[in-house]
Amino acid sequence: MSRPGVWDTDQCTLCFECVKQCHTDALVQFGERQSISTLLDDLMGEYSLYRTSGGGVTFSGGEATLFPKYVAAVSKQLKLSGIHTAIETCGVFKFSSRFSFEAPDAWAREALSSQPLWQMLSLMDIVLFDLKISDSEQHKRHCGATNSEIHDNFRTLVALHKAGKGPEVWPRIPLIPHVTDSPENLLALASLIKSVGLNSVTLVPFHNLGESKREWLKIPHRTHEEPLTREALGEAGRLLLSEGLTCFLPGEEIRDVDDQKVQS
Ligand code: SF4
Repeated sequence: MSRPGVWDTDQCTLCFECVKQCHTDALVQFGERQSISTLLDDLMGEYSLYRTSGGGVTFSGGEATLFPKYVAAVSKQLKLSGIHTAIETCGVFKFSSRFSFEAPDAWAREALSSQPLWQMLSLMDIVLFDLKISDSEQHKRHCGATNSEIHDNFRTLVALHKAGKGPEVWPRIPLIPHVTDSPENLLALASLIKSVGLNSVTLVPFHNLGESKREWLKIPHRTHEEPLTREALGEAGRLLLSEGLTCFLPGEEIRDVDDQKVQS
C-alpha cells in the first residue's frame, strides 16, 4: 500500500479515473487510448500517401516493444495491405528463450509460436536500433542499466536477419553532446556495428524538444545539454565515414558532412 498523496506507479492501472474526477485540473492525461480498429482506420486514411511515396508506418514511443501484441496486431493488418512497417527501439527487451547462433532456424520456429515479442518483430520490415554508449559502466550511469542485453539483442536480430528469419536492422547512434559523441565511443560503436557485418549507421542529432516537458513538470533546465553544432556533427560523421561506414542523418545519406543542416 502506498502512502497517502504518493502515486504508486506499480499499482496504477492507467484507468485515468482520477483525471476525470479532479476538479482543479491538477492531473492531466497525455495521449489517448486507441483501439486497434480505430488506429487502423486512421492509418488507412493515409493509404494512398504510403503507396505513392513508398513510405510506411514507424512504431515509435516511448518504447513500442512494451506493447508487442497491440503493435503486432496493427502491423499484421498494415502488411496485409502492402504497407511497410518499422519500429524504433532502445534495444531493451527480453526474449524468453536464448537465441542460438548455431541454429537460428530452430530458434525462430520455436520463438515465433511462443513469444509475442518475436511475433511482433518478425512482422516488421525494419528495426531502427539505437546504440548509445559502448562502455557498459557509462551506459549504466547515463541510462540506468548496462548495455549487455542491448548488444545481445542487436547481435541476435542481425543474425536472424542474415539467416533470412527476421527484419532488417538499421543501427542508429543518438548523438548527445558530452555523452555519446566522444571519438572513443563512436569508434567502439562502429566496431560493434562492423563486427556483425553491417556497414551503415544513422546519426540522430540531439535535440531539446523535451525542454517543454521539463518546463511543464517544473524540472530545472539542463543548460549543459545544447544541440550539436555543425562542427560536432561533421566530426562525428567524418570519423564514422573513415571507419568505412556509410553514414546517414535521418532520411538522408551523409556524403559531405559539412553540407548538412544541423540545429545550432
Ligand atoms: S485512478 Fe486510475 S489512473 Fe488514477 S492513480 Fe488510480 S489507477 Fe492510476
